[in-house]
Amino acid sequence: MIRIRGAREHNLRGVDLDLAPGTLTVFVGRSGSGKSSLAFDTVHAEGQRRYLEALVGRERGASSLARPDVDLVEGLPPTIGLDQRGSGPSTRSTVATSTDVAALLRVLVARAGTQHCPSCGEPVVPRTHDEIVAELLRDEGRLELDAPVRRGGSAEARAFMDEVAGLGFSRMRIDGETRRIEEIAPHQLPEVVRIVVDRIRVSADKLGRLQDAVRTAARVGRGVLIAHRSGVDTRFVDRPYCPSCDRSLPPLEPELLSWYGAGACKTCDGRGVVDERTCEDCGGTRLCEEARAVRYAGRDLLGWLDCSAGELAREASAFARTEITGPVLDELVQRLGVLDEVGLGTVSLHAPVADLSAGERQRLRIARHVGGALSGVVYVVDEPAAALDDGEVERVVGLLRKLVDAGNTVLVVEHHPVVIAAADRVVEFGPGAGQQGGRIVFDGSVDALRVAETTTGAWFAGRAALPASRGRAPSGRLRVDGRELPLGAVLAVTGPNGSGKSRLLELAATAAAEAEGVSRVVHADQRSVPRSPRSNAATYTGLWDVLRPLLASTREGRVRGFSASQFSLNTNGGRCEACKGSGLRRVTLNLLPDVFTRCPVCDGRRFAADVLEVRWKGLSPDELLAGSPSELLPVLAGHPDLERFLRALVDVGLGYLPLGQPGHTLSGGEAQRLKLARELARATKRGAEGTVLVLDDPSSGLHPEDVRVLVGLLDQLVDAGATVWMATHHRGLVGWADRELALPAR
Ligand SMILES: [Zn+2]
Ligand SMILES: [Zn+2]
Ligand SMILES: [Zn+2]
Repeated sequence: MIRIRGAREHNLRGVDLDLAPGTLTVFVGRSGSGKSSLAFDTVHAEGQRRYLEALVGRERGASSLARPDVDLVEGLPPTIGLDQRGSGPSTRSTVATSTDVAALLRVLVARAGTQHCPSCGEPVVPRTHDEIVAELLRDEGRLELDAPVRRGGSAEARAFMDEVAGLGFSRMRIDGETRRIEEIAPHQLPEVVRIVVDRIRVSADKLGRLQDAVRTAARVGRGVLIAHRSGVDTRFVDRPYCPSCDRSLPPLEPELLSWYGAGACKTCDGRGVVDERTCEDCGGTRLCEEARAVRYAGRDLLGWLDCSAGELAREASAFARTEITGPVLDELVQRLGVLDEVGLGTVSLHAPVADLSAGERQRLRIARHVGGALSGVVYVVDEPAAALDDGEVERVVGLLRKLVDAGNTVLVVEHHPVVIAAADRVVEFGPGAGQQGGRIVFDGSVDALRVAETTTGAWFAGRAALPASRGRAPSGRLRVDGRELPLGAVLAVTGPNGSGKSRLLELAATAAAEAEGVSRVVHADQRSVPRSPRSNAATYTGLWDVLRPLLASTREGRVRGFSASQFSLNTNGGRCEACKGSGLRRVTLNLLPDVFTRCPVCDGRRFAADVLEVRWKGLSPDELLAGSPSELLPVLAGHPDLERFLRALVDVGLGYLPLGQPGHTLSGGEAQRLKLARELARATKRGAEGTVLVLDDPSSGLHPEDVRVLVGLLDQLVDAGATVWMATHHRGLVGWADRELALPAR
């Protein structure tokens, strides 16, 4: 049993919970009820802290990872967080690189493939001296071993021949003939001279002499030696070198096939682009020509990456199994099978993760672990169903069950009924948000939830519902991409993923901006807020710009001669320079994602000591940033601008969110609502008339009760003359809309 006692992180009220290993538990509750505080900020944070401490020791900053506010956590195995938070997929990651497929292919191609000279295309196969000797021993009979030496045009021929003779060699091969050095006229010497190292009648008892000869020839020939038998030359190299082109190649290691490593195109530094244009040297492939000239089973690495998982799996069944390739092939085929299983079997392995749909990205994220064969781990999963259509949610649930079946414990924070229905156990937090939440109000089976007298129970059992459509008549229409979109009403754009909902909304937002009678267009999607450690709700909404002069105008501020700029998080002059006002320090760990710890200089308080002494309404700058809108509203009410911002944040369901919480820790749903709050605060000041709100999946990450609050808010805005166009999968939202536009699958 994993035992948690007295959890008090954020708003949790001393929560106790036992979790049985090998189960799927879903945490539900409204935004700010405390479910993420327990799942991520307590269970996962503690697991990560213990892991880091074991890994890098207390010295290297791990100890500054804050210990969650909890009395006891017992029996906690290693935890892995699967969330949409964090910096998101890097723009350079692909299906292959974000799984282990790229790394395995690299090993396979490097270990079993053949290098080619990029200049002439000839294969370059370095051999060890033992391999060369073994091959020469295979044919008995006369053998001449030569070392080709490039004498260089300027070297004086006579001096060169004397030098060779001085080394103890007596013959050279010139024009297909072996001749004694003293019989050669200097002008007959070619550019590349073949020095005869030894002439041997090969038989098994000549092993020692052959070994000596090969070693000497390779030394004199700088890695190249030529065996001359029965009138035929066989060339050997003991290092990656093309004798015809006098070109040395880098050693064939998996590293050579990596655009993050030795294989990076030198012109574009492995980025594939130079000055925003495709790199001409590598054609955007990011690999240098030496890397592209390595082939295995007829293709180079890029050729294999062009395959889908399904194609590669079929081809791989024909790859030769050796002691070296066997284990790699087994691993590879297993990973490809998982990709196929999660519905990514037909996607190119080279496809950028950023180009995948939200559902595909989510499945890819989980697939990495399903294929990883980890057992006895706690997975903490954040909103796995966000932005997915129902079919995709079913698939994701199937993957979560696989993690459980492999012997792991899965904790999911989610509102989607399909995910809840799949749970072994449901834990509901509430009853409200912030100060009104932080308790467990329900703990039991899915069946018990159906009859529970709780907010989630009522929604799950269908006893609560969103309001039905008011059937508003549009006040006008706007033609976008061949379709009529209503103004002054609510439109739901529906259709499966990939049907072009987001694209239509983007076109609509652009068209609306130029339409008559439209004063403002607000386009809020999941990516609309900067997700960096230094942005936060206070700076993003503009709230902090209102607060800064207020802080400066206090008595403490005036006696220190402060202006608003001392309270800026973006410019120096008052903020902590060690962390540039983020309060965080980034700890970089090899092979693991970066971890943020509290800044040791300001102890996470973001400002210099004298700035922190300033108080407005009894609160210092860091206390203001640590406060949530719900907490601050009663304290700061009375100042109209502040009240407007804080109320808007509460209205969109972000009443629990600390104003200074770093942007990179916001979920996609939170980021979108943050943008909505900023726009609402502006609309309240200027009026909603003529405002067009374009929303991408506005219910994402929201409890149905929070969706109801949001709908009430949007209803008010539309009543006041605003327009709402939204892309959604949410049946309740579609029912509430005045019109539905269903896009067909493409
Ligand atoms: Zn060559
Ligand atoms: Zn390049
Ligand atoms: Zn600092």
